Amino acid sequence: MTTEFPELAEAHLGGLLDQLGLAVPYSRASGDTLYFVDDTGTEVAVDDFVGGYGSLIFGHHHPTLTRLLHDLLERQVPVHAQFSRHPYANDLAAALNRVLHREFGIAEPYRAIFANTGAEAAECALKHAEMERGQRVAALTAEIDTHLDEARAAAAAGAGLPGDAATARLGAFTDVDGLIAAVRQHNAAQLARGPVFLTLENSFHGKLAASVQLTHNPAYRLPFRTLAAPARFVPVDRPGAVAKAVEAERVTVFDLESGDGAVRLVERDLPVIAAFFAEPVQGEGGIRPLDAALAAEIRQAAEAGGFPVVVDEIQTGVGRTGTFFAGAQAGLLGDYVLLAKSIGGGLVKNAVLLVRDSRYQPEFELVHSSTFAKDALSCHIGLAVVDLLEADGGQAYRTVRERGDALRAALDGVAEANADVVAEVRGRGLMQGLEFRDQTDAPAGVVRDFARNGLFGYLVAGRLLRAHRIRVFPTASAPHTLRFQPSLAVTDEAIARLVTGLTDVCALIRANDPTLLTG
Ligand code: PMP
Repeated sequence: MTTEFPELAEAHLGGLLDQLGLAVPYSRASGDTLYFVDDTGTEVAVDDFVGGYGSLIFGHHHPTLTRLLHDLLERQVPVHAQFSRHPYANDLAAALNRVLHREFGIAEPYRAIFANTGAEAAECALKHAEMERGQRVAALTAEIDTHLDEARAAAAAGAGLPGDAATARLGAFTDVDGLIAAVRQHNAAQLARGPVFLTLENSFHGKLAASVQLTHNPAYRLPFRTLAAPARFVPVDRPGAVAKAVEAERVTVFDLESGDGAVRLVERDLPVIAAFFAEPVQGEGGIRPLDAALAAEIRQAAEAGGFPVVVDEIQTGVGRTGTFFAGAQAGLLGDYVLLAKSIGGGLVKNAVLLVRDSRYQPEFELVHSSTFAKDALSCHIGLAVVDLLEADGGQAYRTVRERGDALRAALDGVAEANADVVAEVRGRGLMQGLEFRDQTDAPAGVVRDFARNGLFGYLVAGRLLRAHRIRVFPTASAPHTLRFQPSLAVTDEAIARLVTGLTDVCALIRANDPTLLTG
C-alpha cells in the first residue's frame, strides 16, 4: 500500500473486514479457488463459496471464456462503438429468447435492453414500467375526456345530471360545465400521484436510488426514501396478501357515463401500481425459494391489475438453480426478466432487461442509454456463457443439479448433526443457504455481541477463512444465514472441507468460544 495518502478506497469498510480477518488481498483466482500470498511469500489457496456473490457459475477464469476474451482483444474488436449496429447484442438476445421459450413453453419474443449491473437493470425495469403506466394513465384520461364531451352533448340534449349523492362526493355543481369542472379537479389531484411498486418482504433488487426502494432492508432503503417512488412489501407467508396489497393501493378517478336520457357519475380504477418485482429464490434476503402458491397469486394480481411482473433473476438466473431461469421452477413467468451477475462470465460487467414484446415501449430506447452498455466484449462473453450452458443438450444444468444435491446433502448433514445451532438449510441447485439459530439471547460473549450488532455471519466467515481457508459470507439482509454459491465444477473435496469448517464453527458457537473471533 502506498503511504502518501491514507487508505482512500473505502477504508471504513476495510477496517471492519480487518477486524474479522477478512481483509485479504487476493492475487489470483481459478475455478472455485482464490489465492493470496502470505507473509512468508507462499501462495495460499482458499475455497471460494461466495462465487462473486453468484456471478461465477463457471468459476473464476473459465478457460473457454478467458480464451474468448483474449481473442476479442487480439482481434481488436471495438469495445466502444455506441450508436451503431450491434449484431452481437442481437445474437445474445436471440439466444436468451430461445432458452426462455423452451423453459416456459412460450413463443412471444422478449426485447432486450442492455445495462452494466444488476441494480441498473432493475432501474431500467422501473423506468420502463413507469413509461408503460404513463401510457395506461394517458389512455384512461383520453377515454374520460371523450366521455366528458359526450356528457356535455347529452346534457345539451336534455339529459338529467347526477343527483345529490354525486354533489356530496364532488362538491356543488349546478350545470354540466360545473359537473365536468368538478370531475376534472378531483381527477387532477389523483392523476398527480406517483407510481407504487409492489415487491415481497425480504426482497433485494439493488442499491441505486430507485431500486433500493424495492430492497426491503431498512438500513439500505430508509436513508434514501425521499429520492424515489416507494414500494409496498407484501408478506411472503400470508395467503391472500398479494390481493390485499393491491386493494390497499386502489385509487379511483371519476368518469361520466351518458345514455338513456341521463348522465351518471362512475368511478374508474387509476393504474397506480407500476409493477410487481419478485425473485424466484430470494438471495440477499436469506436464500428463500418463492412459494408456488405465492407465485400464482402474483401472476393473477398482475393479470387483473394490468401491471407487469418483473422477475429478478439477477442472482438466480444463468443456470444457478439448475435451469437457466429459476422462474421456470418457481412457476413464475415474468413480463420483464432481469439478468446480470453470471451473464458476465466472471470477466465482464453485463446486465439485461428482457421485456415481453406486447408490453415493450420502443421509445424507451430513445430516452435510456449508458455509455458502457451493449458493448461487444460483454455481449460476446454473454453469448459464450449461454452456449456453454446449452451445450450437449444442457449438460451444465444437469451438473448444477447434481453438484447442488451434493452440496445440499452436505449442508443437511451439518444441520442434522448441529440442530441446536443450525436452524435450517434452504435453496435450489447451487444457491444454498444455511441459517443459524438466533443467538441474540446467548450468554454474554462474542457470539451474543455479534448476533446483536447484526454481524454474526461475518464472525463465522472470519473464522472459516482464518482457520479453514474457506470463503463464505452471509446474505446482505439476513446476517444469520450463510450463502453458498460455488461454480458447477465445485469438487467433493471442497464440499468436504466446508463440512469440516462448518462443524468446527458450530462447536465454537455452542461453546460460546471467543476463538471464533481470535483463532
Ligand atoms: N437483484 C438481486 C436479486 C441481487 O441479488 C442483486 C445483487 N446481489 C441485485 C439485484 C443488484 O445487482 P448489482 O449488485 O449488480 O447491482
